[in-house]
Amino acid sequence: METVKLKTEGGGAQRLEGARVADEIKREVAEEVARLKREHGFAPRLAVVQVGEDPASTIYVRNKVRTCEELGLGSERHALPEGTTTEGLLALVRDLNAREDVDGFLVQLPLPRGVDESAVIEAIDPDKDVDGFHPVNVGRLMLRRPGLLPCTPAGIVELLVREGVEVAGARVCVVGRSNIVGRPVAELLLQRDATVTICHSRTRCLSEVTREADILVAAVGRAGLIRAEHVKPGAVVIDVGMNQIHDEVEVRQLFGDGADKRLASLSQRGYTVVGDVHPAEVSRVAGRLTPVPGGVGLLTVAMLMKNTVTAARRRRGIEKP
Ligand code: NAP
Repeated sequence: METVKLKTEGGGAQRLEGARVADEIKREVAEEVARLKREHGFAPRLAVVQVGEDPASTIYVRNKVRTCEELGLGSERHALPEGTTTEGLLALVRDLNAREDVDGFLVQLPLPRGVDESAVIEAIDPDKDVDGFHPVNVGRLMLRRPGLLPCTPAGIVELLVREGVEVAGARVCVVGRSNIVGRPVAELLLQRDATVTICHSRTRCLSEVTREADILVAAVGRAGLIRAEHVKPGAVVIDVGMNQIHDEVEVRQLFGDGADKRLASLSQRGYTVVGDVHPAEVSRVAGRLTPVPGGVGLLTVAMLMKNTVTAARRRRGIEKP
């Protein structure tokens, strides 16, 4: 395995950067797209559907379309107005299911209130479900059958494996039990022979449980919830959280001596993005820690591209090289 230089930030933890692994995956995807074009005369095509104008969703969607362009995949964006009904959205889903030239698509979440999210996800053809949220793909994951894996959990596994973190036999603690992150990442790590514990909002004495973990995955949605007391010294900590904070005092409290850059972003944009892990405290205790931004988020997009190529190959009956 290639040796990686890791930067040390503040205290002792080495940064477990998402960029290197995401770039590696994207390079592999671009090569595969070029091969499909050369040998089979097509480029896989991704459609991204956005309903309404949630600013965070707009950034995510733009990033997905831009990454398709970078890697040579075809892409299209469907922007529907805020007041779109479930039936209106289902009509577009049916159309994308039927289109021969679309290999995969996703509907950006969250959907505006009043749109039935489950009905929309369940209407997507499972073989085009590049987010891996359809119950058929969730079932395939649980049964360890080939399917499309959810991007963030699959990206976390790629990060650990490609950075040489030993998963087999490790004690893993996942904080969060959502359908899109907590549960699937726990299952994927179990499949790689980790001993997995899942925590949630009703877990008693959270820090006693998380402190047992060699690998701690935080997918909670609470800025800086995981503090030094939650982390076993030397543990690998994966911070999935993406939380916007707007308060200067909170920024200083979370980033300590390293707050200057964040304060600049706060005054420029009105917010800064932080994870579920307290960066100043945990970087002193953990062995390796993913930064936010620049960690898991980068992997999510790379895995979406990989899923689109996988979906294209499978539905067109093309063997993996
Ligand atoms: P979610 O659906 O809101 O689930 C949060 C989970 O955290 C729930 O299981 C909840 O427990 C648990 N929880 C809440 N408060 C807790 C506490 N005080 N102690 C222990 N557990 C607690 O969130 P999600 O969709 O999984 O997302 C989690 C975070 O990851 C968010 O910040 C999100 O923005 C981010 N995210 C990032 C990416 C990426 O690409 N980087 C992708 C997806 C999500 P209960 O089940 O008991 O309510």
